[in-house]
Amino acid sequence: HHVQLSPEKLVQALCQADDVDAQMSQLVQLFELSESERRLRHLLVTLFQEVFSEFFPGCAILPFGSSVNGFDIHGCDLDLFLDLEKTKTFQASAKGLQGAQAEEGAGPDSDSEDSILSDIDLTTATVPEVLELVAAVLRKCVPGVHSVQAVHSARRPVVKFCHKDSGLLGDISINNRLALCNTRFLQLCTEADERVRPLVYVLRYWAKQQALAGNPFGGGPLLNNYALTLLVLFFLQTRSPPALPTLAQLRKLTGDGDQTIVDGWDCSFPQDASRLEPSANTESLCSLLAEFFRVFGDHDFAGCVISLQEGRMLPLPSFLLSEVGAKFKLGPFNVQDPFELSHNVAANVNEKIAQRFQHCCRDGAKYCRSLQYQRKSSKGKAWGLVRLFQPGVPEAGELGPDGLLITIPFTLMALSPGSRQQLCQARDFGRCWFNKVCAAITFVLKDVLKCSCTGPAGEPLGQEPTEQSGGEQPIVGSKHPRSDERGSLVISPAKKRPRVEGPAPEEEESVSWSCAMWHRVWMGRRRVRRQLRHLGSPQPDTEQEAGSLEVEEKVSEAIIQQEGDSMGAEPLLRFTACARVGGGQEDTRTLLYFTPAPQQGSLFQDFYHFLQGFLPRMVERYVGRAA
Ligand code: ATP
Ligand code: MG
Repeated sequence: HHVQLSPEKLVQALCQADDVDAQMSQLVQLFELSESERRLRHLLVTLFQEVFSEFFPGCAILPFGSSVNGFDIHGCDLDLFLDLEKTKTFQASAKGLQGAQAEEGAGPDSDSEDSILSDIDLTTATVPEVLELVAAVLRKCVPGVHSVQAVHSARRPVVKFCHKDSGLLGDISINNRLALCNTRFLQLCTEADERVRPLVYVLRYWAKQQALAGNPFGGGPLLNNYALTLLVLFFLQTRSPPALPTLAQLRKLTGDGDQTIVDGWDCSFPQDASRLEPSANTESLCSLLAEFFRVFGDHDFAGCVISLQEGRMLPLPSFLLSEVGAKFKLGPFNVQDPFELSHNVAANVNEKIAQRFQHCCRDGAKYCRSLQYQRKSSKGKAWGLVRLFQPGVPEAGELGPDGLLITIPFTLMALSPGSRQQLCQARDFGRCWFNKVCAAITFVLKDVLKCSCTGPAGEPLGQEPTEQSGGEQPIVGSKHPRSDERGSLVISPAKKRPRVEGPAPEEEESVSWSCAMWHRVWMGRRRVRRQLRHLGSPQPDTEQEAGSLEVEEKVSEAIIQQEGDSMGAEPLLRFTACARVGGGQEDTRTLLYFTPAPQQGSLFQDFYHFLQGFLPRMVERYVGRAA
């Protein structure tokens, strides 16, 4: 198993790089699949190929998407295409043969019951029928695969599965030959210019951190990684001089043998990057990134269509009158597929996300003009990419009445592949992740920071859903908060309604804590941490990370001891914290609002500033551990 890169390690590695260009290359190295991860994927593909060939003679299992397009990251899903063209031909000819045999009286079907193909006619079978067959083969005949499920509702129906030992999630589709072409196109772009990969990796990670892209469950209003990647490629096509050729230009360079038409769309482009002329563009990665933000911070996404085919924005009026335009699903974000020209790859993006994308680009552009972006800090402060990756905070309108808000991302990546899988499949995913985060907040407030916390009086305690569907799993040890310590769950009964598909119903749930603090546990933690490390039992190995939950508990205890026990007096601080689910439908951020008791002034401010950095980090730790 690959150990997930922790955010701390990422920050550390990036801060040590020499300049932004080096940070960007470093990011690719930290995220991309290792040799052994690639080998595992390759072995799985071979295994699938062997098993499926038994049932579908002549078939091919072809990987596409991020496992092979050059934008792989640890744990990315394994997208597979099951090509049944040859099998169809095979079946047709076998049928003909059988018919002939039957006429000659060569005995009733001598051998076909061992083939699944005797049950189905591939040329007339519907997509759902074939998919169910694929699912059956996966369930019964591929060792080490579980959670097999056919998903018929998607634009491209797939069979989903999970590989047990590696925790790899994957999809098999049967009618998605275009994806093979666009995968190959992305690959060609990475081969054509070595700046493509670092730029795309950085922007994919940035967009994920800002909760703009990368929803791991598909669906929802976020940009998907494919659309975001196309946006970056388009940006590179439109530099002056261009850093990448347009598809129209590529088509002219296509060799005679490489002409390809798929589903009626011309997908011709050279298979080999050596046919391309090297670009005359010499911009650095550092300035390309800044320019990306500048350009899209000011782009009219709703008013035109981004065309990689032509490498320019198509004005709407004339586009909509064209044949492909008539079928194009117009939205606030319009990115034309490079091959399937009537397809808007960002059609799912809603107004809010489109606007936030623009805002975030503007913020990015502004930051990129600062010295903090351009120059390495000599004082060990966050610089360059690091600050771009700090999670986005909702806009002013979403702030609480006092503006004391901490946004806590829920990082699926912190989970082990197994529990990630379990959670993703939970019927009520929305409830499950939020419960985990709330349990983590309780733990951090009570156990790590030694606040005393209670749910507000009079509100129903213990109404949280019980643990059937991938909710909290007990962790070993005495520190697991019991469910009555998790804060109270407040549900306004009139508003409570089942989750439905479609536009997001406002989430009405919130959990709140009433807290009191007697000690300044937020002060001088670094010093105490250092002291503890010196005192520490024999030689704490280096992975005894400063900053683990256990260490942080000890740090608080030490501070309390040093301050002397002043319990019994009035607490230093009183406040309530109230958590609710963040903005959009697929938003997995928790918004935690703080309301301090009156007249605590700057003391609360200090604590709050400390919590802004500390709490999200600790929550992630806790969630990862509890899983
Ligand atoms: P990752 O899995 O890391 O998010 P990916 O590139 O594999 O990245 P997926 O969402 O898994 O992205 O999609 C796999 C492939 O399916 C893409 O590479 C693309 O070929 C195709 N695809 C995905 N989304 C779309 C879309 N909206 N329109 C057309 N093709 C798409
Ligand atoms: Mg994928």
